[in-house]
Amino acid sequence: MQTFGWADKIAQELLKRNKETYVFHGMWTPSGFFHIGNARSEVFTPYAAKHALESYNKKCIQNFIIDDFDVIRKIPLGLNIAEKDYEEYLGYPCALAKSPLPGFKTWAEAFVSNVKEFLPKYGIKVNYISAYETYKAGIFNYAIKISLDNAKKIVEIWNKIANANKPESFLPIQVLCPKCKKLTTEAKEWLADAEEVSFVCKNPNCKYEGVISPYNGNAKLHWRVHWAAHWHYYKVDFESGGKDHFAAGGSVDVSRAFLKEIFKCDIPPLGVPTEFVQVGGKKMAGSVGNVISLDEWLKVGSAELFRFLNFIYRPQTVIELSLSHQNFLLLYERFERAERIYFGLEEAENEKLTMLYKRAYELSILERKKRFYQAPFSTLLQLVQFKELDEIPNILKTLKVLPSDLTPNEERNIIKKAERAKYWLEHYAPETLKIKFAETYPKPALNENELQAVKKAIKAIEGSESIDALQKAFFQIKKEYNIDAKRFFGIFYNVLIAKDSGPKLATLIFALGRERVIKRLNELIASS
Ligand SMILES: [Zn+2]
Repeated sequence: MQTFGWADKIAQELLKRNKETYVFHGMWTPSGFFHIGNARSEVFTPYAAKHALESYNKKCIQNFIIDDFDVIRKIPLGLNIAEKDYEEYLGYPCALAKSPLPGFKTWAEAFVSNVKEFLPKYGIKVNYISAYETYKAGIFNYAIKISLDNAKKIVEIWNKIANANKPESFLPIQVLCPKCKKLTTEAKEWLADAEEVSFVCKNPNCKYEGVISPYNGNAKLHWRVHWAAHWHYYKVDFESGGKDHFAAGGSVDVSRAFLKEIFKCDIPPLGVPTEFVQVGGKKMAGSVGNVISLDEWLKVGSAELFRFLNFIYRPQTVIELSLSHQNFLLLYERFERAERIYFGLEEAENEKLTMLYKRAYELSILERKKRFYQAPFSTLLQLVQFKELDEIPNILKTLKVLPSDLTPNEERNIIKKAERAKYWLEHYAPETLKIKFAETYPKPALNENELQAVKKAIKAIEGSESIDALQKAFFQIKKEYNIDAKRFFGIFYNVLIAKDSGPKLATLIFALGRERVIKRLNELIASS
């Protein structure tokens, strides 16, 4: 069996387990906005492994654990609320705090609804599982009892593996304070016969002390045990998470030991540490305020482009994804190249890379194109600055970029991509990519040789029928007249857009419109 990318390697590793059904997990605390950085580690990485395994005809399910029993630690940025009105909810489980956004009942619901709305648009179906509801339904009562019965052993394991200093009396549980509704309690004693715990609330405004059954949503396991309990109950085969959890002696190691020693399960989920998505060198995080949401992404890129990003980069690779940087274009170019390779129009540097691109493309697409057609993002970026969106398919047909018999569906896809180019240009693109036909321009002084070259270029512009043919003609003329590329193209950029450099010249000329380009070049010749 041949391996292609990282997801296939994981799939093949999992096949050794020889199971009927494979279970993939991710877990997220809905205390703030979900963004594509969370999406990578908690949804797309397990999804990628699952999707690869499915192509070996295995039954797979993906659970997305909404850890809404986890607490709100701080008020996220960008909520447009008076923070002091919500400060009382710090320390509350997300499932129990009031929604900070209108139209939702709880804090958790406010942030989960966006995920539920947009993940399907990325072709991803997961089972959303509320951790709080699971506890409340009593599903983890057994895990709570096992953990409290084995509390001493848990402390031993924890201290040994994490080199920690938990006191012997530590109980791996947090009681939900019945008075102030916060998880700010410390469990004191496990009264095993009565199956109750005594606890004290550390909230200085509450200080409630009491004895309570830890079952049915009254208490949450400490999250390292909580994690192990989930692996045990759902028989998880794969779970990825932020790389910080995977450090030696970190939470993954500790949770694995709990799974083995406390829950007596010898097969831990295969885990993959996932690197961060960064923006300008900074980790994408709600607290930094540099996040890209699932819906915002769809305004600049397709679902397939984001899926591709997750397949082509190993999870251990940092992805630098600044929408306001020109590098964003490179991602499009890479995807477009993968598409050409997939359709056999191009080959990568070597056979292995060719296979890798083909496979990444195949796994990324939501619907296989019946044939190859492609409007490069960089071309659209120029056209949308001068043409209406619905004119673009016809223009590209005339220029032989697209087949002349585009179906309505294919045409819609092109317009959608053009719309994304326009949105990106208006909201993110660096100024250097914005072009205008120059009203005034620095007139280059041409020598006789250059003058002849420009005359020949005008003929080429008049006679050419496609972007590719025209671009090729420019290179021939430049060679024939032995003019340095920077100088040759610079002449055109000078007079057309008043810059020294610019985008692909042939595309620019068609975007600006050939008539006015020729008129401008004739003016140049007349005055030279
Ligand atoms: Zn309390």
